[in-house]
Amino acid sequence: MKKKIIKVKNLTKQYKGDSKYALDHIDLEISQGSIFGLLGPNGAGKSTFINILAGLVNKDAGSVYVCGIDLDIDPKTVRGNLGIVPQEIIIDPFFTPMEIMNIQAGMYAVKKKNIRNAEILKKLGLGDKANAYARSLSGGMKRRLMVAKAMVHNPPVLILDEPTAGVDVDLRSRLWESIKNLNKKGITIILTTHYLKEAELLCDEIAVINKGKVIAKDSKVNLLKILDEKEIKIEFSEKISEIPKKIKPFCVDKKNKTVTLKFRKSQINTADLVKEFVDKKFELRDITTKESDLEDIFIKLLKN
Ligand code: ADP
Repeated sequence: MKKKIIKVKNLTKQYKGDSKYALDHIDLEISQGSIFGLLGPNGAGKSTFINILAGLVNKDAGSVYVCGIDLDIDPKTVRGNLGIVPQEIIIDPFFTPMEIMNIQAGMYAVKKKNIRNAEILKKLGLGDKANAYARSLSGGMKRRLMVAKAMVHNPPVLILDEPTAGVDVDLRSRLWESIKNLNKKGITIILTTHYLKEAELLCDEIAVINKGKVIAKDSKVNLLKILDEKEIKIEFSEKISEIPKKIKPFCVDKKNKTVTLKFRKSQINTADLVKEFVDKKFELRDITTKESDLEDIFIKLLKN
């Protein structure tokens, strides 16, 4: 069993004047060295969870241990073990990345001998921008600078709140690379997202919360089995008369020039199905696929 770097038990929060729980007696454990995804729709309680860990919101009940330290007993050390990257970019445009890093190191009272600002900036692909004005950085660079800032005090756990919300595709994959690289260096990553693909690509452990309750927690591999279903619609140039024998068990609809297939993606490869048609000289015009998304996981999980 992997060592647990974060242990949360019976964590409960109800905001004043709110009749519902923002966090309803939740238990969660996060393995050291993992990339842990906290998934859930808006209002699920993700930010409340992170803000309690960060010491920004007070819990009503329950316990939180980070690196074996009780948040109630030593909140300062707990904070020192966490690097938090908020959703919004908070960077003073009149400072350079290196100046921003130095100010942050001062705020965390990082000892001079422990300051690795140049190294962190380099790790995040900002080495050559260390002395440029922050206002001259691209959106993606600013986001990476936010991650660098959170790393100044060398925390073993990095928490990213919706790291790629509103970020374009290219930048998103570069951010994912940076996150993976940090994880390879041994840093435990916790990220919140409502974007299932992100969790699928990055995380090895996932918890799904909804209305303040943990409705699923498991390894990604196990969890995604719930979402194993895939649907593809193939359009042909001409009307199809006979569907290849091997395809028949997966065919859920056949109309004129289109067939719809449904299958378990862990067992069957889309390319293999398509190849069956190609080998039989069917002329394909278009293929559309429908993957399960977070909506589907909720529907399925809530049904259980
Ligand atoms: P998420 O981050 O998953 O979108 P939040 O933790 O922000 O969810 O919100 C969980 C619930 O708590 C929601 O119902 C939200 O309206 C409520 N909530 C969050 N912050 C506050 C606050 N400061 N005061 C009152 N209610 C809040």
